[in-house]
Amino acid sequence: MLVEQIIKETVDLQGFRVHTVTKRGKGLIAEIRPDARYSIRCGTCNAPARYRDRRNVRFFRHVPLWNIPVWLHYRPRRVYCSSCKGLRVEKIPWVTGKHRFTTAFAGFMAGWARMLPWCTVAKLFDCAWGTVASAVKVVVDYGLEHRDLSSITHIGIDEISRKKGHVYLTNVYDIHSKTLIWSGEGRTKETLRRLF
Ligand SMILES: [Zn+2]
Repeated sequence: MLVEQIIKETVDLQGFRVHTVTKRGKGLIAEIRPDARYSIRCGTCNAPARYRDRRNVRFFRHVPLWNIPVWLHYRPRRVYCSSCKGLRVEKIPWVTGKHRFTTAFAGFMAGWARMLPWCTVAKLFDCAWGTVASAVKVVVDYGLEHRDLSSITHIGIDEISRKKGHVYLTNVYDIHSKTLIWSGEGRTKETLRRLF
């Protein structure tokens, strides 16, 4: 019961519920089911949509509990959406895009990736280096989408090159908080225009 409660509190489950938590092999599997009190939403435009059928079971890696791996287990529904007119996979609130890990797990991994080399993080959580990179990207994209530029008064602009000068990146910093607020490929006026 307590484990179900912990999972509920660490995952965005609006419209869904934890049905059971079972031990399988070395990990815990939380089986997620739809909550009948909520309507199904389209995964593309978030509008209420009509149930069509179900896809195969998917496993989503979640933050480990006492170092025990945790997976969410769910069969996504397909819906017909009359707003964006098509057959879509429903909105699944605990995941970003088509990833096989929860958004909470992405945040957890990205936290470790700030302190350790990414290959060490991959070893620590028994996953591929690419999974760590994807998790960091989820968190960076979220940060960019929700950034608040209204309090910034002074910015600094820097250009860096990688791949022996073949690729340039323009980085823009908030000078007061010393944080990166934007990064774009290129080093021209057009690059910078994409920020504004
Ligand atoms: Zn839609």
